Amino acid sequence: MRTAVVVGAGIGGLAVAGALARSGWQVTLLERGDRLRAEQTALVLWPNGVRALGALGLGDGLDAIATALPDVGVRRPDGHWLVQPRPMVDERAPVVVHREDLHDALIAGLGDRVEIRTGVRVRTVRTSAADRPAVGDGRTEWEADLVVAADGVDSVVRQRLAPEATVVSSGSAAWRAVIPWYRAPKLPADQSVNGETLGAGYRFVAISLGERGSSGGSTRGGIYWVATAAGASRPESPETQLALLRRWYANWPAPIGDLLAATEPEDLVQQEVRELRPLPRGFAFPSGPGGVVLLGDAAHAMPHHLGQGACLAFEDAATLRSAVRDAVPGESLRGAVEAYNRARRPRAVTVVRQTRRMSAVLQSRGRLALRARDAALGTITPRLMGSAATAAAAWRPPA
Ligand SMILES: Cc1cc2nc3c(=O)[nH]c(=O)nc-3n(C[C@H](O)[C@H](O)[C@H](O)COP(=O)(O)OP(=O)(O)OC[C@H]3O[C@@H](n4cnc5c(N)ncnc54)[C@H](O)[C@@H]3O)c2cc1C
Repeated sequence: MRTAVVVGAGIGGLAVAGALARSGWQVTLLERGDRLRAEQTALVLWPNGVRALGALGLGDGLDAIATALPDVGVRRPDGHWLVQPRPMVDERAPVVVHREDLHDALIAGLGDRVEIRTGVRVRTVRTSAADRPAVGDGRTEWEADLVVAADGVDSVVRQRLAPEATVVSSGSAAWRAVIPWYRAPKLPADQSVNGETLGAGYRFVAISLGERGSSGGSTRGGIYWVATAAGASRPESPETQLALLRRWYANWPAPIGDLLAATEPEDLVQQEVRELRPLPRGFAFPSGPGGVVLLGDAAHAMPHHLGQGACLAFEDAATLRSAVRDAVPGESLRGAVEAYNRARRPRAVTVVRQTRRMSAVLQSRGRLALRARDAALGTITPRLMGSAATAAAAWRPPA
């Protein structure tokens, strides 16, 4: 039986481990955490991400947990429309999903063919032309025909195999929270929760997850918001960070103040926004009898402004599964690993380029830059967003 080791049980690792196992591979999943855990936040899945999950056989599970996302346009803090809401360009609208729900669906997709080893921090990687690749934690080594590095932006495997790719700050910090449905503020009937507002170096996006789960006592419905601010992440306590957020976003249009007032410090997830510059030269490292591939943030961590990181991880997983479907260890699997690189690296380069352009526009500060940004948002952005949406919509899973 063909064997694979997947390093990292984030959403990318879980998706690919399940996909390989369902295709008949014997999979070992190594996770440094003491258990498989999801963030208490949510995720927007664009049509490409939805399609990728469908190609992985997880479409039905997604339908059960996802809420369709309306296009809400973009406003300035003074309420002026920068981008009017417009109809979706794709037949499938993007959806929003609570990460814990998605995590559960991905874990359910692992089946009983995946050996899960938690508390394993991979530190070493071994590849050679003759032997199967292996990873180790300093005490034990796991060897397999295929190693998938899905160990996130700080990937140890990538650092060993593609040291040219360095992790840098994108110049902003992000705060996210899900306000559980039972604490969500009651808004006037004519006021939508959903919305994106852009100020000088600041951005606030809110999306309703609905009241799903309220009857069963689940807390996974509610309101998801993401606040992004230029600058570094804050060392202060969550209480102080929340106070800062309330100050920064004071006087922004409703319901932003209501949402921040309903947020508790323990709801906050703060993160410095980081990316890989440059991207690794390759996403695949053929060896005998197959090789090592990079997947998800390990391969292409990018700013979150287009919300494409996880979508691309699912595309990676769907592409890898298709590439290795009929491959046997040896020359054929090495060829499949190279095919994965040929398919995925150019795609990631394109999306990263669009994300960086968008991130530069969205993070403008200073009067002149802001004026240029507002003009850009009025003219370029529909085009920019259109091209981003097209790139998202254009991806089709391999046959
Ligand atoms: C503010 C923000 C908002 C975002 N919003 C969206 C969105 O709306 N839509 C979207 O598509 N994307 C979004 N993203 C991007 C998305 O969150 C990431 O791209 C995605 O989570 C990456 O998943 P991953 O599995 O590749 O990596 P990770 O989620 O980082 O998982 C890596 C896993 O590997 C484990 N690990 C790490 N090192 C080791 C080791 N040495 N040994 C063993 N295990 C290890 C970690 O513990 C972890 O479980 C957003 C990102 C941010 C910051």
